[in-house]
Amino acid sequence: MKNINNILEKDLNETELIQSFQAACSDKGFYEFVRNLPIEETILIKYTSSLEDAFMECKNCQNCKGIEYCKNSVVGYCYTPKKEKNIIQFSYVACPWKERDLKENAYKENLELFDMPKEIKEASLKAVYTDDKSRVPIIRYFKEFIEKYNDKNNPKGLYLTGSFGSGKTYLIAALLNEMAKRKVCCALVYYPEFLRSLKSSFQTDYVERFNFIKTSPILLLDDIGAENQSNWSRDEVLGPILQYRMQNHLPTFFTSNLTLEELEASLSTTSSGVDKVKARRIIERIKQLTIPMELVGKNRRN
Ligand code: ADP
Ligand code: MG
Repeated sequence: MKNINNILEKDLNETELIQSFQAACSDKGFYEFVRNLPIEETILIKYTSSLEDAFMECKNCQNCKGIEYCKNSVVGYCYTPKKEKNIIQFSYVACPWKERDLKENAYKENLELFDMPKEIKEASLKAVYTDDKSRVPIIRYFKEFIEKYNDKNNPKGLYLTGSFGSGKTYLIAALLNEMAKRKVCCALVYYPEFLRSLKSSFQTDYVERFNFIKTSPILLLDDIGAENQSNWSRDEVLGPILQYRMQNHLPTFFTSNLTLEELEASLSTTSSGVDKVKARRIIERIKQLTIPMELVGKNRRN
């Protein structure tokens, strides 16, 4: 008796499934949509409701003018059916707009920011102002850097000094973003804040953070000289980072409001006293690693 009941129930369910599938197919668009799927009707009938959702999303995608117009449940993705053996699996497939977006932004994976605003990843060489002459040698140097960069014999970085807001950070970030597009990993570090957070990570991931910066294929130490000087930051952090990068020919960039002479004076005096020799040694390493350039210009901050 139980078996007969089961069979009856199964038939009943199947009839219901067919009925609701057929009802959905009275919509011409839906009918066309399912007819074009490489899936047999005996399977399709079990998924009417999900297929209707997929159809709606597919319809939204037709003639869509861009991701900002997306009406789908997951922006940039289309709920899509695919046959797997005897069942249908539904998944969210990126639309062509999203695909383009993902491709255009893939380089950001190669950029590691430490306390830098994330908009800095948008900085682009194409957008660099060319309205003042002081940028010309910098741009020329950038072109050369891009051409000459390779893993073995790397060009030097820059020590870029200049007034507050003149665009130093933006410029170097634009170059590093370009390098990231060429698949080179870069670390951009807001140095004063990095030191503070490094100090508070003694118990946790101090070594990982330190080594990450030290070994990054290209490094920017942004706003060096704005940090509180201590023997620890000079002799245990900056010194070893620069030493390692010199020995391994790893391009290193600095931006600073201070000239190298001013930085040397700043590094000489820490909370523990004056040590000109140690400050000199740091400056020598920076000189080995970089070409000094100056960016003069109006304050671009609003
Ligand atoms: P600095 O590091 O010299 O203090 P920033 O690089 O922070 O200056 O630049 C100051 C402001 O001007 C920032 O808001 C930055 O985004 C903007 N800026 C600088 N150069 C450009 C540029 N070429 N295109 C667009 N914005 C820029
Ligand atoms: Mg800056």
